[in-house]
Amino acid sequence: MAGEQNLAVSVKSGFINPSVAIVGGGWAGCAAALTLAEAGVRVTLLEASRTLGGRARAVELQGQKLDNGQHILLGAYEQTLQLIERLHATPGLWRLPLSLNQPPDFSLSCPRLPAPLHLLAGLLGAQGLDWREKLAAARWIHSLLNSEIDADHLTVSQLTHTQPEKLNRLLWHPLCISALNTPPGIASGRVFQNVIRAAFGGHNPHSDLLLPQLDLTSLFPAPAAARIVELGGSVRLSSRVTTLDPAPGCITLQTCNDAHTYSHAILAVAPQHLASLIAPVAELRPLVNDVASYTYQAIATAYVQYDPAFRLKKPLFALADGPAQFVFDRGQSHGQAGLLAFVASAAANLPISWIEQAEAQLLRIAHPGTARWRKSIVEKQATYACVPHLARPGNRTQHPRIFLAGDYTDGAYPATLESATLSGVQSANTLLEQL
Ligand SMILES: Cc1cc2nc3c(=O)[nH]c(=O)nc-3n(C[C@H](O)[C@H](O)[C@H](O)COP(=O)(O)OP(=O)(O)OC[C@H]3O[C@@H](n4cnc5c(N)ncnc54)[C@H](O)[C@@H]3O)c2cc1C
Repeated sequence: MAGEQNLAVSVKSGFINPSVAIVGGGWAGCAAALTLAEAGVRVTLLEASRTLGGRARAVELQGQKLDNGQHILLGAYEQTLQLIERLHATPGLWRLPLSLNQPPDFSLSCPRLPAPLHLLAGLLGAQGLDWREKLAAARWIHSLLNSEIDADHLTVSQLTHTQPEKLNRLLWHPLCISALNTPPGIASGRVFQNVIRAAFGGHNPHSDLLLPQLDLTSLFPAPAAARIVELGGSVRLSSRVTTLDPAPGCITLQTCNDAHTYSHAILAVAPQHLASLIAPVAELRPLVNDVASYTYQAIATAYVQYDPAFRLKKPLFALADGPAQFVFDRGQSHGQAGLLAFVASAAANLPISWIEQAEAQLLRIAHPGTARWRKSIVEKQATYACVPHLARPGNRTQHPRIFLAGDYTDGAYPATLESATLSGVQSANTLLEQL
């Protein structure tokens, strides 16, 4: 079957046996390689590290499979969920109706009503807001969903400046930080509006929170790679591409060990790694300037192991008055009893004592006793800062046989798994159109 599709591609294109290299085995590169392999194209996925998944990958700590950073998905991540569901008999995701709990100050739960009524009901029933604040939130959301506000040139702080201080502090600004990983003072109002509309403007399940129940590499990159190999493709780990050399009709990619020639390449590396790869290609110089303008934001995850008998009352809580915005109970999601993951997004200038501070934040909610071990993973360049008018390139480049994929390419969403997979699939489809 794969062979037949391959022949069809070759005949239509005039490229004799096109072979595509995908550079970067993050979620975008895996999505691109899988899409091409399923269309019958010969693919080679080259990943610099020993593990697939990039910024959303498994790491081993204290003999347990953890992640480089605790992730959460939204029901609106349609592309990502479709890919995961295609590869798993049971998807390994725990779906929870949206609820934000920050005891004792605030709680909001959205019932199973048609969108956006569920949000309206959630806001009106929220604890910790008075009626004036609830109505202000409902009115503002209505105008945001109906595009009555032109958010193009605004930051999130400007977009929310008419909202009561308490709503911004408890709801909108924490949502901005966790969704865009960018402080509201510089975050793009347009992208924030896109996220709100994707979560609350469509169907009720779009606002669901989905907690991974597997490590992130097992959730998508590893089964995608297995399928690629099954379809005749190749996946090469520990294969950092050092030089990219386009010649008429082919592209040669050099790694530390060898060099191979391909008909096309999809570059699925993070924006901070793109410039060094494409600098020698004259047609791609403007791209180098675009990504050079990016700045980056950190995300820190602290894993803290308590007594295995300890569990939170819910699988996740929002936290206030400290560096962490959320705490997740990995016992409930991953069966890792007594293990909590604290997350600090937009985490500039984190103090060394941030884990102790996060544990102190938790004391407002629960008393887990003494920690057995603690480990912090700080991803200093977790995502690009999602600011207004960021130059986000398309999947097609000025070079006819070089394409881009990654969470930073042109799209509605901020740097997320959904941006990455959407971009990977789109890049592959754009390339397929050309064959
Ligand atoms: C700590 C943290 C928490 C996050 N939380 C969330 C969340 O809760 N929800 C959410 O949706 N998103 C979250 N994100 C964002 C999400 O992880 C990213 O948007 C997404 O993983 C980006 O995927 P990508 O494929 O575009 O890029 P990457 O994951 O960066 O993949 C690029 C790959 O290219 C490889 N590479 C680089 N250079 C080369 C080379 N020269 N040769 C070969 N390979 C190369 C890298 O090793 C990497 O594997 C989080 C990110 C971090 C870091």
